[in-house]
Amino acid sequence: MSKLKEFLSKAVAMADPSDLVAGASVTIKYFFSHPVTVMYPFEKREFSSCAKGVLALIPDKYGDDLCIGCMQCVKICPVDCLTVEMRKLSKEELLGRKFEEKKKKALIPTFEVDLQRCMLCSLCVEICPTDALEMSQTVTLIMTNREDQVLDRMRMLELGKDTQRYRNRLAAGEIECEAIQCPEPKHKD
Ligand code: SF4
Ligand code: SF4
Repeated sequence: MSKLKEFLSKAVAMADPSDLVAGASVTIKYFFSHPVTVMYPFEKREFSSCAKGVLALIPDKYGDDLCIGCMQCVKICPVDCLTVEMRKLSKEELLGRKFEEKKKKALIPTFEVDLQRCMLCSLCVEICPTDALEMSQTVTLIMTNREDQVLDRMRMLELGKDTQRYRNRLAAGEIECEAIQCPEPKHKD
């Protein structure tokens, strides 16, 4: 008799029959119940609104960012992975802006996040006075080199649009958030 057979026969002899029945009943119960997992990537589940994906810039109704260049996010970031450049608008440039746009007195030529270092702590989101930043629900960005891991302003605005669409669907009840104590969606428009 092989060692495995010997081991198995000893194990069966020593096992308590009630334990075997208990174990088998659990197996049978889950065999016939609805699975809690899905066949990813063919089937994808919606993320909870509490999930923290890649950092996004939320666009206003003109597609521009809401950033005023205060640099608070840069200062609070514990791993120094944000790069923000701000340029104040001149009086002439401000005069040429639409009424709604006049609140924003600066342009942001550069806004970057380095995903190699970002630890998704969301401190920058919390401190931003204009709600310009949001943790998106995107976690599946595919990159083949290190340079691509630095997301620029346009890429972050695209993620912000996705985040707004997600928030709108959540607010409309199209997505069922399974997480406990989810915060209210911040951005609905
Ligand atoms: S804290 Fe907000 S407004 Fe200030 S620089 Fe960062 S993103 Fe812009
Ligand atoms: S989420 Fe945290 S680590 Fe990432 S950019 Fe914001 S403050 Fe920095």
